[in-house]
Amino acid sequence: MLTAPTEVYRALGQGEFVPYFQPLVVLQTGQLAGFEVLARWKHPELGIIPPEKFIPLAEKDGWIGDLTQEILRQSFSSASFLPDSLELAVNISPVQLRDLSLPRLIQDVAAETRFPLKRLVLEITESAVMDNLEYAQTIGNDLKSMGCRLALDDFGTGYSSLLHLQSLPFDELKIDRSFVGSMTDRRDNRKIVAAVVSLGQSLGLTTVAEGVETEEQAEMLLWLGCDIGQGWLYGRPLPAEDLAAMISTPLPRIRVHSTAPAKIASVGNLSALPFQRLAQLQAVYDGAPVGLAFLDRNLRHVNLNQRLADLNGFSVSEHIGKTAAEMVPELFNQFEPFLERALMGEAIFNVEVKKPASETDGERAFLMSYQPARDEADEVVGISVALVDITEIKAADEALRQSKEKLQAVFDAIPIGIILAEAPDGRLSMANPEANRIFGHPDFSGMQISTYADSGLTRKDGTVLGPAEYPLARALLHGETTPPEDLLCESLDGSSAWVCLSGAPVHGPDGAIIGGVLAVQDIDAAKCERQRLLGMAADLMKELETHV
Ligand code: C2E
Ligand code: CA
Ligand code: CA
Repeated sequence: MLTAPTEVYRALGQGEFVPYFQPLVVLQTGQLAGFEVLARWKHPELGIIPPEKFIPLAEKDGWIGDLTQEILRQSFSSASFLPDSLELAVNISPVQLRDLSLPRLIQDVAAETRFPLKRLVLEITESAVMDNLEYAQTIGNDLKSMGCRLALDDFGTGYSSLLHLQSLPFDELKIDRSFVGSMTDRRDNRKIVAAVVSLGQSLGLTTVAEGVETEEQAEMLLWLGCDIGQGWLYGRPLPAEDLAAMISTPLPRIRVHSTAPAKIASVGNLSALPFQRLAQLQAVYDGAPVGLAFLDRNLRHVNLNQRLADLNGFSVSEHIGKTAAEMVPELFNQFEPFLERALMGEAIFNVEVKKPASETDGERAFLMSYQPARDEADEVVGISVALVDITEIKAADEALRQSKEKLQAVFDAIPIGIILAEAPDGRLSMANPEANRIFGHPDFSGMQISTYADSGLTRKDGTVLGPAEYPLARALLHGETTPPEDLLCESLDGSSAWVCLSGAPVHGPDGAIIGGVLAVQDIDAAKCERQRLLGMAADLMKELETHV
């Protein structure tokens, strides 16, 4: 019944074919970009008839041109009140790309309804291009020169040939909804979407994803760098009467919040497209003072920087495609377990690896980090390896440790108590055994000067030293050197003894006070020592006298 020409022309005359409008949304901002126009037949008896039922007939029976004209006229008129920024995308059947009068038809309707053609996108499927490439190119070029834009529709379902993609001056690439629908749970479809998005980007095309039904899909598309989304999440196709409501209803703005995208968000660079991010990352890679490599799941070098290449002693290109075991066999057994763990999803930081001495070089030490790299669904796709050469740092560390040890030996041997404190907090960093003995304390190291100041010190005149008067405090706070002074010191065990204290600040290279030193002498012990020496001298004298 539907096929009868009289029935069709009656329907066309009666305005039974109407455009429905489905929102096209900028994924990043949630802003409306325009609408795709989808034909419906409002049949008086059968109700709303979907396009699959009548488009094939219109193509076969030759009234597709009339239908398109009708749909264009109505949608252009309905769009007259829409903001200039909103585009309309209209579907063109493959058979119409064999009709050289199509551009003229479009131009006439646009002129009649005063619709600017720069707001019109024509959606063409790949099969339309394939059927007759020469005609398609002529028509496509005509449409472009009129100011229209061209979209390649349903990409991924047909041949998905790159030849067809570049045969016409396309502006947009529409990814078929069959991939989008299952991309969140089917890895292969996700990879196809990712590949199509980056293909579109590399060719400078706007990418549009059809059939976006869930926030999860929108989020993943956004993370992959897709520009425009269309689907039930943003709205179903609705008649012209609903256009006003559609442009005033806020659309869901997708925020990236799952694991993989969040990492990118935290870098604060969501506005960059993936290939821009890649270029940026490559620059960081090449300029880093650290050796960097990216290994795939088979531990092959996918990328590395010059620094790492130099460390391994091969060129960057000699690494590409080779495994870590092939490139650095002498080290591989050391880091294999970490690579295994990283492949299981664990991030490992700062593991020390030693490279044995070679003919040309001594033993070298490296600090290595291994981080799993994840794709948009959180699967580990490879390992990011970072490595710093710490050989020099370690040598310097060792020299410092040795000089510290020597200093400690001197410290421990001298018969004067020495305490070192750090500025500005007054933490006691070192105390020799003599200092500990004099103050009757097991060990001062690590204590704060304030604690130490609690053990009372009294002058010969009986006045007690205030907390800010302690030689160490004066040295740290004011940079003062205090001359030796005899003081009565109360030890922590309650006993008291006369000691002689002096203090001095320690200055850093820039003159700032970086610490203080306190010297303490046990006067009684010194007296005893003097007494003992005097006694020995007296004995000696006596002996000498007896001999004389
Ligand atoms: P299409 O160009 O691929 O249009 C997108 C189809 O996906 C539309 O079906 C739309 O309603 C549907 N869709 C949109 N969002 C979602 C979603 O989130 N989930 C699902 N499952 N589907 C979604 P519709 O309107 O039935 O149109 C079917 C096809 O008919 C269109 O596919 C297009 O090829 C053709 N068509 C529609 N109007 C015209 C027209 O005026 N001229 C021509 N030549 N073809 C038309
Ligand atoms: Ca379409
Ligand atoms: Ca489509």
